[in-house]
Amino acid sequence: MARESMKSKRARALAVCERMGEHYPHAQPALDFGGDPFRLTIAVLLSAQTTDAAVNKVTPVLWERYPTIEDLAAANVEDISEILHSIGFFRTKAANCVKCAQMVLSEFGGEVPRTYEELQRLPGVGRKTANIVMNAGFGIVEGIAVDTHVFRIAHKLKLSNAKDPSKTEEDLLKLIPQELWEPVNHQWILFGREICNAKRPKCAECFLADLCPSCE
Ligand code: SF4
Repeated sequence: MARESMKSKRARALAVCERMGEHYPHAQPALDFGGDPFRLTIAVLLSAQTTDAAVNKVTPVLWERYPTIEDLAAANVEDISEILHSIGFFRTKAANCVKCAQMVLSEFGGEVPRTYEELQRLPGVGRKTANIVMNAGFGIVEGIAVDTHVFRIAHKLKLSNAKDPSKTEEDLLKLIPQELWEPVNHQWILFGREICNAKRPKCAECFLADLCPSCE
């Protein structure tokens, strides 16, 4: 493909977002968190390298046994590991859950912070998690959470060729109008699961085929 101008790429990105909106008008986070930003933070932290469905199976048990931030902060990491044993990296995640609860209490007065800088100080919380917590937990939209689906789709659509998620996010923020950032993560995850699958993208039935330089 010949080098594409920014103007043309922006127009394509806009068309992609509009079609995503038409196909997934009610896309929501797949993680269960009951509207509680702390539970959302823990759920996203647990979802690294693991499916949301697997996380949704363990969090009800976690919250039943440790209903408050104080309960989790005082928990034994081994006991949390037992609850989380069915998900990847459960030992590290169990330790991070407890440390995260402790830091929210000791440094943030028991409230999940609302800025990137503060959120990323929490153990196990990176830019992607911070974006999801700010967006879905507080309704603050200052970025786009780039997970494995968003990363892959941005590259398939040639909206980014950056090697890492944070640079991919920077590329997307330059191309997509700010008022459309909020649903990108939820919509692209659905699209990634249903159509632009990592192993076998269904290009023949893809509603973005005419906008996609990688269409097979
Ligand atoms: S045309 Fe194929 S590669 Fe491109 S977005 Fe659709 S499914 Fe993915």
